[in-house]
Amino acid sequence: MATSTDDPVVHVLWINAGLSCDGDSVSLTAATLPSIEDIAMGALPGLPKVQFHWPLVDYQVGDDFMEWFWRADAGKLEPFVLVVEGSVANERIKSQGYWTGFGNDPRTGQPITLSEWLDRLAPKAWAVVAVGTCATYGGIHAMQGNPTGAMGVPDYLGWKWRSKAGLPIVCVPGCPIQPDNLSETLLYLLHQAAGVAPMIPLDDQLRPKWLFGQTVHDGCDRGGYYEEGRFAREYGSPECLVKVGCWGPVVQCNVTKRGWMDGIGGCPNVGGICIACTMPGFPDRFMPFMEEPPGSKLSTEITGHFYGPLITSLRAITNHSADKEPNWRHKGTRLTTGYQRTWA
Ligand code: SF4
Ligand code: SF4
Ligand code: SF4
Repeated sequence: MATSTDDPVVHVLWINAGLSCDGDSVSLTAATLPSIEDIAMGALPGLPKVQFHWPLVDYQVGDDFMEWFWRADAGKLEPFVLVVEGSVANERIKSQGYWTGFGNDPRTGQPITLSEWLDRLAPKAWAVVAVGTCATYGGIHAMQGNPTGAMGVPDYLGWKWRSKAGLPIVCVPGCPIQPDNLSETLLYLLHQAAGVAPMIPLDDQLRPKWLFGQTVHDGCDRGGYYEEGRFAREYGSPECLVKVGCWGPVVQCNVTKRGWMDGIGGCPNVGGICIACTMPGFPDRFMPFMEEPPGSKLSTEITGHFYGPLITSLRAITNHSADKEPNWRHKGTRLTTGYQRTWA
């Protein structure tokens, strides 16, 4: 997507070489409000010129593609937004090999790890954006017992880290991201870079407030069934899914309101339980999936008779404990995930 121009340009450098399945890159291609094409082509009012350096679609490959990253590393690319997809393996827990790499260092011929790229580029970036639950909080790769010591970008850089422009790390969780949540966040940041939007409002888990301020349950099409105490006992039923494992009442995510693609879909709306994929405590705090979440029996029985402050308080307690990461996701020279080697 790179073009040659002498005009001021905001570069978006995308590293998808964390522990990642590239699902967030794929998901972004489905964005419509706005589409990534509209952003890249500058088709929206107030946008600065933008160049994406994004492995999924870039026509530049090899050294031509990596050149933008070398220039950023040398302090010769201003300004740029660093996008990270995938969790950050802890490369300090072993003395040989590496978990993930992105390009080769011309001086040594060795792959450059994601953590090294973060060390090199984060201090020079106008903003750092973590996309997907792996990059934001560690995600599936960072679950208990993992051998990599994987963590999210805020665990690596520090939760209070600020870019040189004064921005906190911007986290857009989801496994994968809801496409428009990410394209809208990028649009906001580009408007901020152009000086036409104020500081992006983030919550205490570094998520854009306007996207993650409500629960799945708040927007669910099945809310009427919940209110009437009509609960599905098997898949295929149109009724509320809480008794087959839906965590929606305590999960912050807007896909029930926004849909997945062009307003269509949205997990419980179309029959899938919410497994809490946007949450910092995902997946450990929400397992086993497909079983009645703790507290749902009490809350659904009470709901059948009266609504009130008690339900709200119960949910606030569950949400508070689930909206936090497990404590083994951190930097350091020791692996504390509980991983046990199965060989000598
Ligand atoms: Fe893949 Fe999910 Fe991780 Fe994104 S958050 S890289 S979709 S596993
Ligand atoms: Fe709430 Fe889940 Fe039931 Fe929807 S399906 S109403 S999100 S508990
Ligand atoms: Fe993830 Fe639940 Fe949102 Fe679906 S509804 S995207 S499972 S958090």
